[in-house]
Amino acid sequence: MTDTPRDPLLDVRPGDRWLVAVAHPDDETFGCGSAIARAAGQGAEVTVVCATRGEAGESVPGSVDGVDLGTVREGELRRAAERLGVGSVELLGYRDSGFDGDLPEGSLCAAPLDEVAGTLGLLLGRLRPQVLLTLDGSDGHRDHLRIGAAVRQAVVSADGPAPLLVEQCIPNSLLRRWLDEMRAVRPDTAYHSLDPATLGRSDADITDVLDTSGVLDRREAAIAEHRSQVSPFDGLSDDLRRAFLTTDHLARVEPVRRGG
Ligand SMILES: [Zn+2]
Repeated sequence: MTDTPRDPLLDVRPGDRWLVAVAHPDDETFGCGSAIARAAGQGAEVTVVCATRGEAGESVPGSVDGVDLGTVREGELRRAAERLGVGSVELLGYRDSGFDGDLPEGSLCAAPLDEVAGTLGLLLGRLRPQVLLTLDGSDGHRDHLRIGAAVRQAVVSADGPAPLLVEQCIPNSLLRRWLDEMRAVRPDTAYHSLDPATLGRSDADITDVLDTSGVLDRREAAIAEHRSQVSPFDGLSDDLRRAFLTTDHLARVEPVRRGG
């Protein structure tokens, strides 16, 4: 009789190690907050590695008050991580690339992919996580795509057992509901130009749908820490906000080694 290997995503045990790799402060909360709080609540040791301090983001007026935005956002990241039950936060020290335009010197997207992947690879070697969680980048932000590419490269290059790579997704079906609501509530905005077919991640890619309603309070507390940022969940109907915050949509990914 052979033992079926334990599924580290569905069957989290105390002492499990999770590494969550994101691009900016708030990605861990606005993106991965429920998955982190759930794993930490079940005893996993969660490390968040954040590539930048989010200094190219926009800030809520009056929320920064003369302090540089990167410093404010790093503080928000650390406090939010604590709310979620994260044990350790590491920053890679790249600059935020911004959504578009010229790449700032020292930014994540200006750095060679091999360098970013190599740094993540060292972290994988040190922490030996069973689960590696990241955003799927389907919102198109170039830093989200970049950290995703670096994560996949780090996994295929890693020595030893590879972690289970899981991408946090927002499925197309949920974003269609969001778009319908936005168009109804704010008919005069640019939402009309969005093509519903291209929003988010194809539902067919989702491998796991988790009920995370049990950690909603932690997620909300972490969201509230990101005071300098407009929460993407603000202004939604109660139903839709609940749909975003209490159900996690995840895609297990097997990165392919380049060159065979
Ligand atoms: Zn981000």
